[in-house]
Amino acid sequence: MKILYDLHTHTRYSDGRSSVEDNIKRAKELGLEKLAITDHGHGKWTSKKIKPKFYKQAKDEIKKYSAQYGLLCLFGIEANVIGMDGEIDITKGELKELDILLCGVHRKVCPKNLKTLLCFFLPNWLGIKSKKQIERNTRTVINVLEKNKIDILTHPGRYFPVDIMAIAKKCAEVGTLFELGRKEIPFSPQQFNEMQKIEGLQFIINSDAHGAEKIGQIKKVEEFLKLCEYKKEKIINLAD
Ligand SMILES: [Zn+2]
Ligand SMILES: [Zn+2]
Repeated sequence: MKILYDLHTHTRYSDGRSSVEDNIKRAKELGLEKLAITDHGHGKWTSKKIKPKFYKQAKDEIKKYSAQYGLLCLFGIEANVIGMDGEIDITKGELKELDILLCGVHRKVCPKNLKTLLCFFLPNWLGIKSKKQIERNTRTVINVLEKNKIDILTHPGRYFPVDIMAIAKKCAEVGTLFELGRKEIPFSPQQFNEMQKIEGLQFIINSDAHGAEKIGQIKKVEEFLKLCEYKKEKIINLAD
């Protein structure tokens, strides 16, 4: 099982181990059609994020090495959910700089307000998995999908538990791709089979590589899909 392109990779601009050039070179070696460099948004409290002042430098590098290696490479950000009302850590001005916007729930993020700290981040940091918390988590992600034009929702359900069917339905409604990531998949093959029945929903498989050697690697997803009755046409970047 192979993917035609990989639209979720990190570099040293955030917490990746490789450079822009390393990623582009590796994607070319693998014969991928295109690549996206999507470092973490600045809402993370760690230093593992790309600050907007480095966007231009990153874009210049992407332009240079895309031309050098002959590979289409997009500049994007993997934004963080920072507010329960659908806020993410990217401004309208910053958005104009991007070719592609990814967004996902991450743990080490500065909440937008006290409500988000107390009702979203804190209970999830403590590992609370009550019905009420799952409803709140789900509502938060739905708000994010409704309020922002997100191209790819990264690793849905991975860190904080959600009603995955509700998230999948919203992705279909707003035209956001539902990502199957390289790491653990937090739903069952049965749930995936059900999700595939949602009209208009499309999936994308990405590596979420934090080192160039991981680009295009989808072993976990491959093992998972073998347990599912997957339909190739529902996964937009799956090669024959
Ligand atoms: Zn992520
Ligand atoms: Zn990522």
